[in-house]
Amino acid sequence: MMDAESGIEVSATPKRVYMEDFGCQMNKNDAELVVGRLRMDGFVRTPIVEEADVILYYACSVREHAEERVFGRLGQLKRLKKDRPETVIGVMGCMAQNQKERIFERAPHVDLVVGTQRFEDIAAFVKDLDHHARVIAVDQGEVSYRRDVSERPDQHQAFVTVMRGCDKFCTFCIVPFTQGRERSRAPEDIEREVRALVDDGVQQVTLLGQRVNTYGLDLNCGESLASLLQRLEKIPGLRRLQFITSHPTHIDETLMRVIRDHEVHARYLHLPVQSGSDRILRAMNRGHDVDSYRRTMDMVRRIVPDMSLATDWIVGFPGETEADFDQSVRLLRDVEFQTSFVFKYSTRSGTRAARALEDDVPEVEKARRNHVLLAEQETISARRHAARMGELHEILVEGISKRDDSRWFGRTAQNWIVVFRADRDLSGQFVKVKLVDSTALTLFGELVEA
Ligand code: SF4
Repeated sequence: MMDAESGIEVSATPKRVYMEDFGCQMNKNDAELVVGRLRMDGFVRTPIVEEADVILYYACSVREHAEERVFGRLGQLKRLKKDRPETVIGVMGCMAQNQKERIFERAPHVDLVVGTQRFEDIAAFVKDLDHHARVIAVDQGEVSYRRDVSERPDQHQAFVTVMRGCDKFCTFCIVPFTQGRERSRAPEDIEREVRALVDDGVQQVTLLGQRVNTYGLDLNCGESLASLLQRLEKIPGLRRLQFITSHPTHIDETLMRVIRDHEVHARYLHLPVQSGSDRILRAMNRGHDVDSYRRTMDMVRRIVPDMSLATDWIVGFPGETEADFDQSVRLLRDVEFQTSFVFKYSTRSGTRAARALEDDVPEVEKARRNHVLLAEQETISARRHAARMGELHEILVEGISKRDDSRWFGRTAQNWIVVFRADRDLSGQFVKVKLVDSTALTLFGELVEA
């Protein structure tokens, strides 16, 4: 029997796999790679958990919230496992790498714990369960990027992992421990994957990496994110190319000129700063200070004036005083980011901060600082959006507006969301809109050209 979507031969009664992911985009992408691997081995995907023979959760461990949600899901599966003990239940990704055996302790009905570097072997692990009570696989090794390009949640856009791991060891972050050292993929391999995706109908590609702007350094052959972008921009049919997430220490003029000089490159840079206080940045081991960050942002805007800037903040990091926090507010106002993602600090076991620093800012104060930064950002975003009225922008239409099903929405090259009316489904198409109204989060447009 042939799987209708992939064209791969499957057995008469294929096993059904249910996959749910939690956390960052990298986890989402890895979860899709896992499903692709399983489909190559004859599994079919089901969106209904009760129907599945194999239930997998792929989870990020950067924030405690994602892990707790997975434990919540696992709790709900106790009954199902009792009724159907042959159902395989697995936890994968950073959470598996981080929690290891602790997952079995909290959820004894779990069969599989597979870390970030072993998903290539997922089908073999599932089969192995015929012989073993449980499988745990969290060693580090080489990751294979073999992929069924048709296995992706969106037909018009796709994510491509170009490097993994992080050498930076920020004190609050678990990633260097769960993903290991930085490893870049060969550029030819990435190009092959992007070409295959574009041939399969993808128009927008987002390159992923934990510190994506250090891409190529470990290859020691002169490759860089800039040279990778130049290689990929030549692919016919690729309409938009972007990358996440970057670290402030490796954003240079060469990279910005490459972005400026070809229209395929999105005008969107997500550059987490985390704090506006040098004292806190040192305690975080970020490897940059506020001045160098400001200079980088000035350089980016000088070379690519229409670049939309996004950042991350952590409020209530151990030892953060009111004066430190005020410096974050000042930096946010001065740089005038388009978007800020604000997180209240919480201790992640296994990190350096968890071992050495006391979580001493009260919850209520963290919540207040969170609110203050978001309110500041909202004011700036609203003002920046309002200044755009009358402009024409090309957007990639993503689908029906979540708030109003008579409207559609898409994103500009700056990653701004634009909502507009249309009398037909334009999903997956690039259309031109004129901006006519705005809020802090959304722009509203009129369709000019489809
Ligand atoms: S740069 Fe810092 S925050 Fe980003 S992944 Fe590496 S250790 Fe984590």
